[in-house]
Amino acid sequence: MGNVLPPDNHVHTEWSWDAPTAASMRLSCEQALAAGIPAVAFTDHLDFTVPADGDRISAENIEPRPYAWMRSLDVTSYLAAVQECRQRYPDLRILSGAEIGEAHLWGASAAAVVGTAGFDRVLGSLHAIPFRGRLTAADELYRQMTADDVMRRYLTEVVRLVEGSDVFQVLAHLDFPRRMWPRDAEPYTERAFEEEYRAVLRALAAGDRILEVNTKSPLVSAELVRWWRAAGGRAVSFGSDAHQPWRVGARFKLAVDVVEAAGFRAGRDRFDFWRV
Ligand SMILES: [Zn+2]
Ligand SMILES: [Zn+2]
Repeated sequence: MGNVLPPDNHVHTEWSWDAPTAASMRLSCEQALAAGIPAVAFTDHLDFTVPADGDRISAENIEPRPYAWMRSLDVTSYLAAVQECRQRYPDLRILSGAEIGEAHLWGASAAAVVGTAGFDRVLGSLHAIPFRGRLTAADELYRQMTADDVMRRYLTEVVRLVEGSDVFQVLAHLDFPRRMWPRDAEPYTERAFEEEYRAVLRALAAGDRILEVNTKSPLVSAELVRWWRAAGGRAVSFGSDAHQPWRVGARFKLAVDVVEAAGFRAGRDRFDFWRV
């Protein structure tokens, strides 16, 4: 064992609506092999824009996010690309998957896709929250309220996401708006939001789910990973959230140090989550 790196359970490719065409699945596989990453999960964005019957977003009368360039995942073609990479790179464990945005508001839509796609990894995440009747992107919220209020509202909505959807196994980037924390605000500290973080972690642990350490976001502290343990969390997933092949496995050595400092170790085998 020794220096084995964890799987990268959060990678985007050309099948994601927000990734450049250069984000090739093949090159991502080659980067994983070069970096000594034993497995990758291709978790391309599964976002919805048109409410279906049974989606909470219509019941609550919330206007969806209006990004014109947002498009749904072409699941069939995506799965064919995964299959092709599995044949091309037999030394790499390749998992299929998706990152579902705001799954609690799109429950029926998400369940319909996940029920037939047979994904190996499903990530849940929140990029936008309901505000004044509209699903509002995190960066836009900073223009509407104080930075502290953005984080508090966001983390409160993450609890609703976790409690309101069981379609996903891993919670991705739990404090996403931290990436856009305003330069003119007080420096970000996790302790300022400890209560809100702990509520998220308790909800996640109650469902026996998994916390992601995201290496695209500012890295969480070992203290926060200890809060996860104290909340009953038993497993951690690592995710680069790469939207470019060269970022697969980025900052994983540092992330491993943080997670180990909180008492987690490599799991049953090198493809597993890290566990207490
Ligand atoms: Zn995301
Ligand atoms: Zn992502």
